[in-house]
Amino acid sequence: MNGHSVSAKTWVVTTGSSAAVPPIPGLDRVDFLTNRDLFSLERLPASMIILGAGPIGIEMAQAFSRLGTTVSVVGRSEQILSKEDRDMADALQARLAAEGVTFYLGAKIEAVSQVGSKKCVRLRLNPDAAVDLTAETLLVALGRTPNVNGLWLEAAGVDVGPTGIAVDPRLRTSRKHIFAAGDVNGGYLFTHAAGYEGGIVVSNAVFHLPRKVDYTWLPWCTYTDPELASIGMNARRAEAAGLDPIVLSEPFAANDRAWSKGRARGASN
Ligand SMILES: Cc1cc2nc3c(=O)[nH]c(=O)nc-3n(C[C@H](O)[C@H](O)[C@H](O)COP(=O)(O)OP(=O)(O)OC[C@H]3O[C@@H](n4cnc5c(N)ncnc54)[C@H](O)[C@@H]3O)c2cc1C
Repeated sequence: MNGHSVSAKTWVVTTGSSAAVPPIPGLDRVDFLTNRDLFSLERLPASMIILGAGPIGIEMAQAFSRLGTTVSVVGRSEQILSKEDRDMADALQARLAAEGVTFYLGAKIEAVSQVGSKKCVRLRLNPDAAVDLTAETLLVALGRTPNVNGLWLEAAGVDVGPTGIAVDPRLRTSRKHIFAAGDVNGGYLFTHAAGYEGGIVVSNAVFHLPRKVDYTWLPWCTYTDPELASIGMNARRAEAAGLDPIVLSEPFAANDRAWSKGRARGASN
């Protein structure tokens, strides 16, 4: 580090993640935005194409649309927020569509190009239809990649998988004295998950009180209006875990408190 060596008995890697930039033909020659520069824009763009229909893409779609930008969202899956239950995600999509956001789902991004200051995206939709989109700005929100470059983890014998540094339930890497917490281990990419994992690492590494992570009741939220929030498994995750969930659904319209707060649209499962 700056020409000095640092040694320690125990190490914790918490370098987080950055926007993933997949090898889409032409993207390397286009002036695109990620979450890094999106919040430093000096004026509101007239139009924006958002590549990615995950939490970041969807939150930014609603925010920019409400500010007055014409927004198009491109998603690979047929559903926005593909980790959420379909009925919930579809309800949110309908709300955003009613506010003016245009969706291109089930789309394959074939190429990206720049014509003057405009950004162009060529898509292929199912069934085989080509669509060309043009906008003033292009936001890439196609997932996250762990910040592991330049750490020389391979020299330390730390295994890194496709989504991040591999860890065991105590958050130890393949080198037991090196821990990894937060986005860099590719688990749950949330601030509160990173904080929780930090506590697990301190317990294991500093106090030598063995603790394992337990995400059973982990909450998470996509901060749209309305918000889409969960605690623990939704039906999709329960099914993926081999369970056969019974889903009870209650529309907010059946709830007097929701009416009195003027928020009777939406539902809880
Ligand atoms: C646009 C956006 C919206 C989000 N919204 C939410 C939300 O609403 N709710 C939520 O829970 N989560 C949200 N997240 C996710 C949340 O930000 C992350 O899960 C959280 O910050 C992860 O914490 P971390 O400590 O692992 O990494 P970070 O907070 O990214 O911290 C990593 C730190 O390490 C530093 N670093 C990186 N590489 C090196 C290096 N080589 N040497 C030294 N330092 C290095 C970085 O500069 C940074 O300071 C959002 C993320 C984005 C991008």
